[in-house]
Amino acid sequence: MAPLEVIQFPDRRLKQMSAPVAHVDQDLRKLADEMLKVMYEEPGIGLAAPQVGIGIRLIVMDTVWNEEDNEPDPTVIINPEIVSREGTITWEEGCLSVPDLTAEVERAEHIVVKYQNLEGEDLKEDVSGLRAVCFQHEIDHLDGILFIDRISRLKRSLYAKRRKKQLRQEEEPASLGS
Ligand code: ZN
Repeated sequence: MAPLEVIQFPDRRLKQMSAPVAHVDQDLRKLADEMLKVMYEEPGIGLAAPQVGIGIRLIVMDTVWNEEDNEPDPTVIINPEIVSREGTITWEEGCLSVPDLTAEVERAEHIVVKYQNLEGEDLKEDVSGLRAVCFQHEIDHLDGILFIDRISRLKRSLYAKRRKKQLRQEEEPASLGS
């Protein structure tokens, strides 16, 4: 497998709807493993397959490892579906695919989510707080939605402008102005 690379806004692939995983096989286990490596390296607390340019409904997540004294505790999530939502919570979110921006996003505070694991078992999790926020953020990726789609239009367009300018500057030859 070629090394995975996190794709970034405004890459069009981030806007696409991802397809359900049909069956869990060795290739999928390998992909999940590679995605976890990328997530811990970046570092991030969640990574969805479309963020590495693969349009399937697969997420890896670890919402505890970066807190002090916690061992890594990864979750691999296949075909997730939120079956209930309750309350609201506002969280300062960031995203490996949206560099140099954090913004407050409103989400459901408690959710119940169903998904499959790498053993093909059906699981149901009742989550709240950061883990609930992370589930919602990552499931959004599977539907082609970024957290900047959930902030004000003004903030989003300011970010898009800033990002385009930044990308233009990266393209310019380093010798300019010497
Ligand atoms: Zn993200």
